[in-house]
Parts: sequence; structure tokens; C-alpha cells
Amino acid sequence: DSPEVKRALISVSNKLGIVDFATGLVEKGVEIYSTGGTRRHLEQAGVKVLDVSEYTKFPEMMDGRVKTLHPKIFAGILARRNRADDMESMSDHDIVPFDMVVVNLYPFAATIANPNVLVHEAIEQIDIGGPSLIRAAAKNSDYVTVVSNPYQYAEVLDEINTSGTTSVGLRRRLMAQAFQHTANYDLTIADYFSGQTEGETFPATMTVVLNRQSVLRYGENSHQSAALYSSENNREASLVNSRQIHGKALSYNNLLDLDAALNIVRGFDKAACSVIKHNNPCGAAIGDSLKEACQKGFAGDPVSAFGSVVGMNQIVDGDTASYLAEGDLFVEAIVAPGFDDDALEILVTKPKWKKNVRLLKVGELDPQRGSWEMRQLVGGVLVQDADVLIDDPETWKVVTDVEPDESLMEELAFGWSMVRYVKSNAITLSKDCALVGVGAGQMSRVDSVRIAIRKAGEERAQGSVLASDAFFPFADSIPLAAEAGVSAIIQPGGSMRDQEVIDACNEHGIPMVFAGKRHFRH
Ligand code: 5GP
Repeated sequence: DSPEVKRALISVSNKLGIVDFATGLVEKGVEIYSTGGTRRHLEQAGVKVLDVSEYTKFPEMMDGRVKTLHPKIFAGILARRNRADDMESMSDHDIVPFDMVVVNLYPFAATIANPNVLVHEAIEQIDIGGPSLIRAAAKNSDYVTVVSNPYQYAEVLDEINTSGTTSVGLRRRLMAQAFQHTANYDLTIADYFSGQTEGETFPATMTVVLNRQSVLRYGENSHQSAALYSSENNREASLVNSRQIHGKALSYNNLLDLDAALNIVRGFDKAACSVIKHNNPCGAAIGDSLKEACQKGFAGDPVSAFGSVVGMNQIVDGDTASYLAEGDLFVEAIVAPGFDDDALEILVTKPKWKKNVRLLKVGELDPQRGSWEMRQLVGGVLVQDADVLIDDPETWKVVTDVEPDESLMEELAFGWSMVRYVKSNAITLSKDCALVGVGAGQMSRVDSVRIAIRKAGEERAQGSVLASDAFFPFADSIPLAAEAGVSAIIQPGGSMRDQEVIDACNEHGIPMVFAGKRHFRH
């Protein structure tokens, strides 16, 4: 009951991947009809294409406002193949059936992302024929395959290569994605024209389309149900787009922690490893090899690291996997760009926790994570730019009499790149580019200092550097740091009592750097 795909209509704005896809179709004997720009693009690449205008005997007009809007096109898409009357109408009017429609829309969202765009330029970027084609093909998914996004090409071509057609299951899935896509497209347009305010970053009205990706076993606690949603067309290397290659199903808390694990390591050029518990790093480090980074990461707080999730920024190799698999470590989940064959073999056969450990492959990481962040309040949502500020040590100021030397500066930079991922009030102690003590989520900063020092222990606190995610409201933390043997401090500065804090540092001979920006994480 799945007719062979014989004829496809292709009209795409985003030409990404279209030549390969069309070539694949032609190789399977599919006849292709296209609109002007798409036809020229395919012909230039040597793909044989028929012209929609020649078929309809109607030219494209009004700068492309009317291209495919014609009964000979729409009847060919909408005809019910099991209805004699529909088939008769087609032959009466010389209409050919289209079995596949490949369309992506004028880039409205990209157009309005430019703050200088004129209203009339935006209006011209409202696609009319495209959504109609997509909706018509989706409606007739009993017979027609609708391809509305380049990332669908591979799967569609796969099925056609194997069977010459597409399965009902795939066609229905593509139908649902098509309607989500056109609905989202129209919402973007509506948002733009209803909420347009000059110079405003955030729209007056916001519609967020999220697709349910999975239903989770439960939420933060077993009496809460939960699901994971992902935003449409989100293709960046992230947890949401990762592939689980081994282990038990991910839990709500795993997902939260893995996201944090990945964000900590993604910005480093050197090998980096983070060890996360309850959304905070209990260890994190960079090293000359991934194994070294891991060893240093786990050494940060070995007791807390039990049952942690681990993030790494390079493909996990056999050495690193061996380290993780040996000894008394217990790891719940690992996220990394990938795992080489040795690593995979070791992780799924060696450790005691081999059966359950969740292994997630995210692919190549972007140094930056997504742009917006949302948090829910009862009855509302808070939206902000994500804290993706790249810290520039060139802008930092040494505020004490003593200056940190170059190697101390490097340590401070590492501490500063870590403390932003710890819940406020956040204090980190680090040494040799590894966390050795973390004070997280305390309601007073001095308590976080006490905890970080206690966690580090006498020996490791000695000579470590201290980073504070926001300014010290009082000088009381400084003598504690001095007593513990802290060798330098970095903090944003900006307190009314900055001078008292600086004086205290001078008194104890501790160099202090003001980074100028704070990194709260509440
Ligand atoms: P091309 O580059 O092939 O000239 O144009 C492709 C784009 O035109 C696609 O984004 C498709 O959605 C859009 N399109 C196809 N038919 C029509 C139509 O009749 N009217 C409008 N406004 N857009 C169309």
C-alpha cells in the first residue's frame, strides 16, 4: 500500500544537501520538478530537472509570490490514489501525481534576526506557496512523502534506496513534523508583527514550540512524572541532541547533571574533565591528556565523586576508559564528543557499573552553549541571555601591592573559568589547574569560603588560588584564606567595601585580581 515514489516536487530556499538528495532520487528513477532557483541550482550540479512553470503553463510572477500556487500542482499532490473520481479528474486535466514534496521555507526567522531589517523586507520573506505545498503533502501522507527539513534527507533516501518507497510510519512522522514546522513558521511571523518594538531583544509575545523527545521514568523525585522536550531545529552539539550508546535510561537528574558537565568542559582547548554531583562540580580539571584531566578531576573530591556524572571535551580513549574502569570509582553517566572502540569495549565490559553506566556521544562541541535561558516561576517564565561571556584576562586588574606572576595568573584564569559553574555563593580553590575545594550554594559567602577550605584540606589549600563568583561584601573571608595558605584571589570587585578587602589582602601579602564581571549562578 506504499506506492513507488516516481515524481518529486522540489522547491527549497535552503539548498543545503539538496544536490545529493536529488541525485539519490534520480538514481532511483524519480522524476524531479522544481521552481526557478531550485531548478537552476540542481541543473548546475548536473541533476536533470523539469520546470514547474513549463508544466503549469504559467510563469512565476510578482517576484516569486506566485510560483507553485496552481491547481495542476495541488491536485497532483492532493489526489487520493484509491479514488477513481480523483484519478479521473487528474487525467481529465492532464495532471500528474506527485509522490514526494521537498520544500523548505523562505528564511523568515533569519531575516528578522537582523535588527536593521525593514518591515517590507520582512513581509517579502513570508512564504506562501511553500507552507501550502507542505500542508497539502502532509495532509495526503497516505500516499505522499513530505520532506520539510534537510536533516530528514538521509532517512528518506535510506528507505527509498532499500524499497523504492517510504513506509507509512515514516510518512506519518514526516506529516507531524511538517505541521509542527508550518505552525511554528506562522507563529514566528505573528510574534514579529504583534510584538515589534524598536531595539527590544525579547519579543513582546513569545511562542515556544517544543517537541517531546522522551518521557522519563520520573522527575526529580519518584512521585513526580517528567518528560524531556527539545526545541525544533536545534542541531547544535548538546545533550538534547546526543546519542546514548549504552546503559540504563537517563533520569531527570542525570540530564540536568550531564548538561552541567558538558557546559563546564566545552570551552577548553586542552583536555578537560568535569565530575558533577547535584549540578555542581565536585571536581574538574584540565590536563595534557584526557586521562590526566580525569585523574585530576576525580582527585578533587573523591568521596563526593561516588555516583557522579562525568563530562569530557575530547573523544574518550582506551587509557582514559581504563582509568575510569579501575579502582573504586563509581560513575553514573559519561558525556563526551565520542568514545573510541577501545574505550567503549573497556567501559561496557570492565567496571562494576558497566551494565548501567549511561554513555552519551554528543559529537564535536561548540565552545559556546545556546543563547537563551529560561526558568520557570509560578505563573510565568524568566528569560535571559545565557551567561556565555568570554572572560578576557587582558581586562583584569591587579588591585594589590603584590602582583601574581605568570603561572599564578594561569591558575587564577582556571579558577575563574570554573567558579561560574558553581551555584552561588560560589567559592573554588584550585591548584595545578584542578579544583581542590568547592564551596557551593551557601547563603553567605564566608560560609562558602569555609567549606571550600575544609573540602580542600590543609595540604591542598596551601598554595591554592581562590575564585569568588561575586564580590566579597566584607573583608572577613580574607584572613580565612590567608590562614589556609591561599596564594592568590580572583573576584569581580565592585563592593562598597572593596578597599577593606584589598587592605586585608595587602596585610597578608596575597595578590588579588579584579575580573570586573561577576558570574552568579543561582
Ligand atoms: P526557488 O529558489 O526554487 O526559486 O524558490 C524556492 C522557495 O519558494 C521555497 O522556499 C518555497 O517554499 C517557495 N515557494 C514555492 N512556491 C511558492 C509560491 O507559490 N509562492 C511563494 N511565496 N513561495 C513559494
